[in-house]
Amino acid sequence: MSLGIDWARAWILRSADVIAENRTTLTTLDREIGDGDHGENMDRGFAAVRAKVDGLADDAVPGDALKIVATTLISTVGGAAGPLYGTAYLKAAGAVAGQTELDGAALVSLLTAARDGIVLRGKAEVGDKTMIDAWTPAVDAAAAALAEGRSEPEILAAAAEGAARGSESTDALVAHKGRASYLGERAVGHRDPGSVSTVLLLQAAADVAADAS
Ligand code: ADP
Ligand code: MG
Repeated sequence: MSLGIDWARAWILRSADVIAENRTTLTTLDREIGDGDHGENMDRGFAAVRAKVDGLADDAVPGDALKIVATTLISTVGGAAGPLYGTAYLKAAGAVAGQTELDGAALVSLLTAARDGIVLRGKAEVGDKTMIDAWTPAVDAAAAALAEGRSEPEILAAAAEGAARGSESTDALVAHKGRASYLGERAVGHRDPGSVSTVLLLQAAADVAADAS
């Protein structure tokens, strides 16, 4: 089974739902080691995205949908996360541009391009206590699942599990990027909020793919 515009649209709408449901959780995490706005930032962005997705043309492809997410997040989210996620979706859109149906290899390209876009923009490495600590194990797990011949929903499920493991690993870390880096050792014991929003977005991708299969 490959994933087309219906999956992309469903992923985006599910993302808007889970970000809205977890707005308080994300904000609470950001209050511990940041400035307490990550939930509001993301919810504002995805509420705007939800309104735009309805306007997609009938012959739109997944890359078109991802591009709308990118431009909308860049113009509405602000903070660090807006440009970072905006770049992620823009690079993801570019990686699958023009493709009507995404197979496993396309999904791995999409995820890799998203992660690389965040790194290009924010210069964080694994271990810096940022969303990259979720994205990189997600990409690695998706690539491993592809190499094992897994299905598209399984590849996305592997990505979500990798992201969840990576997000948990941020608890033990001192931050080297973003606002949490001002806190030094005081950030230890707290989970990075951007890694948690990453888990939500990738879990949404996996869940809608599982529903469709
Ligand atoms: P702000 O920090 O401007 O208030 P948000 O609260 O919306 O923005 O987002 C904070 C999240 O952004 C952090 O939890 C972290 O995951 C992510 N982040 C911050 N700086 C970077 C960076 N340089 N690279 C990757 N992710 C980053
Ligand atoms: Mg913040």
